[in-house]
Order: sequence, then C-alpha cells, then structure tokens
Amino acid sequence: MTERDVKILTDRLIPRPKKIDFRDGSEYLLRDNCAVALNVAHDRGSCAELAGKLFMAYWQCAPDIRIGDLSGTLRGEESYKISITENLLEISAHGRNALLNAMKTLRQLAEVQRGTKTVSGYFLVQCDVDDAPALNFRGIHLCIFPETPLWDIEKQLRLAAYHKFNYAVIEPWGVFPFESHPEFSWKNQQLDKTALKRLITLGKDLGITLIPQLNLLGHASASRSITGKHAVLSFDPQLQPLFEPEGWSWCLTNPETRKILTDLSLELHDFFDRPPFFHIGCDEADNIGTCRDCRSKELKTLIKEHICFFHDLFAGRNAKVIMWHDMLITKGDPRWKGYTACGLPEHQLGELYKELPRDIIIADWQYRNPETLPEDADPDWPVAKFFNQENFDVLVCPWLNWNGIVEQGKMAAKRNLYGMLETTWHIFHERHATAIHCAAASVAWNPEQIPENSLSNRLALAQHTRQIDWDMGVKEYAETGWCKNQVSSGPFPLNEF
Ligand SMILES: [Zn+2]
Repeated sequence: MTERDVKILTDRLIPRPKKIDFRDGSEYLLRDNCAVALNVAHDRGSCAELAGKLFMAYWQCAPDIRIGDLSGTLRGEESYKISITENLLEISAHGRNALLNAMKTLRQLAEVQRGTKTVSGYFLVQCDVDDAPALNFRGIHLCIFPETPLWDIEKQLRLAAYHKFNYAVIEPWGVFPFESHPEFSWKNQQLDKTALKRLITLGKDLGITLIPQLNLLGHASASRSITGKHAVLSFDPQLQPLFEPEGWSWCLTNPETRKILTDLSLELHDFFDRPPFFHIGCDEADNIGTCRDCRSKELKTLIKEHICFFHDLFAGRNAKVIMWHDMLITKGDPRWKGYTACGLPEHQLGELYKELPRDIIIADWQYRNPETLPEDADPDWPVAKFFNQENFDVLVCPWLNWNGIVEQGKMAAKRNLYGMLETTWHIFHERHATAIHCAAASVAWNPEQIPENSLSNRLALAQHTRQIDWDMGVKEYAETGWCKNQVSSGPFPLNEF
C-alpha cells in the first residue's frame, strides 16, 4: 500500500484512531454471511444483536457473527481493536459503548463497490486498529433557542456521537415547557417535549449522554442580552422580584428564587433521566447582587450558599454539577491576561473558589486563538491549570478557533484533565462546522493526530453528514448538509439604504 493510499484512507477518519495499520491484499466484503468474530467481555447477547442491526443499517447485509471471549488487553472501557483480513472481521471490545466506537470507525472506513450504477455492496481494506480515547469526557454543548429546530439538534447529536463525543450538554433557552412552573419559558415558543425525549433516548442508542443545563446565576433572562428579550419578564412583570432589577441575574436573597430554581432544575434532571451531571451555568452574572436586599449582603457568601445548595441537591442524586469558571476569577487580574474572566473587582469573588466543594467540575471557556495573546500573557492556558492545581476537575471549553481548540485539547490530554466541552452557541453551521466536528472531535479523542483544516477534511465531514442525513431520512433541502442555505439573501434583505 502506497503512502498516498494510506493518506486517502486515513483522511476519511474523524477522529483518527490511535493506531491503524493498513495492509495489501484482497478486501473483506461486507455481504450476507460475512464472517465476524465479536469478542466482548459483557453484554454478549445484546452486543451481537447490536452489531447485526448496525451491519444491516450501514451496509444492508446480515453477517455471520460468532461471539467469543475477550482475550488480550484493551486500554479501557471505551477502547476497541479491529482486525480485518480477506475472510474475517474481528472486533474486540469490553462492551456496548466500545463496540459502538468500533462500528463508527468501520462505517467511516467502508467503501462502496465500484463499477455499477447503483450500490452493489461495500468492502473494507485489510487493516489492524488499536484505539482508545485520550479524554474520558468528550462533550459538545448545544443550545436550543426559540429559533432552533430540533432536527438541527438531532443532526448535531448524531454527528457528535459519530465522531465519538460521549456527552452533550443541552441548554434550552426559555423553550423547555416546565410543568412545575410553566411561566418560566416563552409562551408559544416551547419545544416539543416528546421530540426532545426521543433525542434523549436516541443519545443512549448512539453512545452519547445528554446533560441538561439551567443557568442559576446570570443569563436568567434565558435570552441573549444583545436582544433585550426576557423569556419570563417580557410577558410577566409580576415575577420581577425573582430577578435583580435589570432582569439578567437571579435575586439570591429572595427565598422564592431558590424554591423555583430547585423545582426547575430537578424537573429538568428528571426529564433527562437523571444523568450523572447537571450544568448550572453561572457565567457572566455581571449585575449579580444589585437589588436593595442583595446589595446589603456579602456577595461571596450569597453565591457560595447558592452554589453549595445546588451542589448538595444533585449530590443527593449521585450527580455532579458543572459550572462555568468565569465568575470565580477577576477581570483585570494579571494572571488571566488575555483569558476570559468575568468577576468584577467590586464583586470580590476571587477567593470564592476556596470555599466550594472540590467535586464541582469547572468548565473553563476560552475562545481565542492562542497566537493572538498579548506578549506578556501566559501562553499556556493558566485558568485551567489554576483550577486543576486547586484540585477541581476541569473541562476545557473552546469554541470556533481551530488553534484554540487543538491547543486546549492537547493541554487537557497532557495534563490528564477531566475532559473537553466544545461549545457551539448560536454559531455551528457553515465553515464553523469543521472546527467543531473535525478539530474538537479529533483532539478530544486523539491529540497525536489532528487533521489539517483542509478541503479533504471538509469533504470527509460532508460524507459523514450525508450518512447522518440518510439515517434521519432527511427529505427537505434545508435539512441537508450543515447549512440551511448555500447562499445568503443578505442579513437585511428589505433594507434598501
Ligand atoms: Zn437581589
């Protein structure tokens, strides 16, 4: 096999396996009764059933699966091995999730047979794969705005799972129809709970666990601040006392606030089938503590009690809370020069972290390109290092910048941090899709082999997205690919001047 052959085959893989060795020789044909040796440690029956189902879905064939014992060593619960010869495909995996990982790799490797107008079958080239993830927590953060169709969230989830993310934080922006307090979402802009429940179940099938988020400090408007909208107060001025006067942050001295947030967060956690994590937000609470009653209290104590209350609430459910880091460090502190810090000097929250339980997971969101840091800034992601040294588990949370994603992912793997939570916010389409689904997915799994930001990479993602479109049965133009439209009609088409 030539170097070019190997490059072509490798370019199809997102993320790239830790080790893959291609061999010359006749291909293995994916067809009815093709021989498959499946070596698993547990859930043997359900693993065989799952493999059979995926062979049919991916390649429309029914293999002859022989179940065997797992022999030799694997690197962990999610790791797997594949060996492909002309007459046998052998998969070794601990259990279901590792098998899913192996099948995702095989789907990306398989090529359609040549020489006919329509599909006559698929084949795999001979190779050996020995694969395991670098980071245990590989998450994507997805927002559901009133403007977000759930098919788009489903596509993002399927793509993320296909690229071996194993967690998805779901943040509904004023669209979750709470039964406990229906007034805490937009009237007439509520998502379809049945459809969302289907996505939670789908996530389990795909090997990606959905984690709900509710913002318990700032972002209480459940709307982007730049729009002036408020999911609660725009229509319901009676509820003003629950928020600070500007509406952006919750009023922490009002005992009614905590009661309602308890109901909302537990309802969300129940709805998501009580996953092992809950994201409490806590970023950008700029105007926290500004009402008459909060102003007269020490803000650090107010916030500490608030966060600890919810930490304990979820600890009682065996779930850990994840919180954004930025209010825990102070803007202007030279240690964080060039990095995101949102605590204001007058907040005096710089020592708050010392009083927080160490099993809170700190999500360090840093979006910039490290190459554009000021000259006197620490180029080595000091915030994540700081919280890690203070014995917190840390998630690095990049967004769109390719270098920033890759560098943070590499640092997280090198320092054995908790993992990565790739954010997407309102921008994850168009050219940005590759940053999320190629760069972040690649570095979270295998920081040793990051693809270039190139056309071949984009084309691999396009093929994977088509496979997802087939899985979803997409029939509408706007729902294909990762953009609704190919060209823009302009941001203000009716604006003539
Ligand atoms: Zn207040």
